[in-house]
Amino acid sequence: MAEAVQKASDTEIANAARAIFAADYPIALTGAGMSVESGIPPFRGPGGLWTKYGEPPMNGYERFLADPKKAWEDRESNRNDELMKPLRVAKPNEGHRALVQLEDLGVLRFVITQNVDDLHRQAGQKSLAEIHGNWKLIRCIECVTRFERAQIDLSRLPPACPKCGGLLKSDTVSFGEPIPPDVIRVCAHHASRADLVIVAGTSATVYPAAGFALEVKERDGTLVEVNLYESEISRICDFSLRGGSAEELPRLVTEISKLRRESAS
Ligand SMILES: [Zn+2]
Repeated sequence: MAEAVQKASDTEIANAARAIFAADYPIALTGAGMSVESGIPPFRGPGGLWTKYGEPPMNGYERFLADPKKAWEDRESNRNDELMKPLRVAKPNEGHRALVQLEDLGVLRFVITQNVDDLHRQAGQKSLAEIHGNWKLIRCIECVTRFERAQIDLSRLPPACPKCGGLLKSDTVSFGEPIPPDVIRVCAHHASRADLVIVAGTSATVYPAAGFALEVKERDGTLVEVNLYESEISRICDFSLRGGSAEELPRLVTEISKLRRESAS
């Protein structure tokens, strides 16, 4: 039986909101928990996609490079299966929208997401890095340019980059594939300036994303966690808000908007 989800108290929300409002350069790190709240099943655990369909090969990138034509053929034939359906129908939730509001308020400077579901973009987040890629995009492994599917001629597989002729791959980062260098650079840039990280829907244990949060903490920065359950990062967090991102992040926005009005008057 699922345990009852504890909701953060008003005082906890107010305290975390004050810390976020007082910070010079807050960023956010988001993960699968936010996708789950939009109806996308997690990969691992009961009901997880990998539990049901088997884990993707740990050497996925190596296999792609060894036979890109076959990797593309497999990808194209799997496009309409049950595995992809949740991604196609998912919509951004109140948590995604809250992070956009924080950006619009001039509070939140950058979002690093581990999610490939495109939902932060769909919600309208402007300053964003998708550290594991975006399932809708296609990326050139040579020049790192990203393309919409419609821009690419898929009649001959594997497709070639319209810009440099290089090999094209799904933007989603495979097991064994290095995180694209442009993404690492922009994340490192913002993390090096950050003095607070809102960690939402992730236990922040998957590297390199987790490293950016830990780095800020090591510099005496502040970690604000929004997670349903206690996680491995909870013990080093300054504020642990128990609850879903779709509930707790909007509560933070309400409080921060209030602080903004008070400081303006
Ligand atoms: Zn290219």
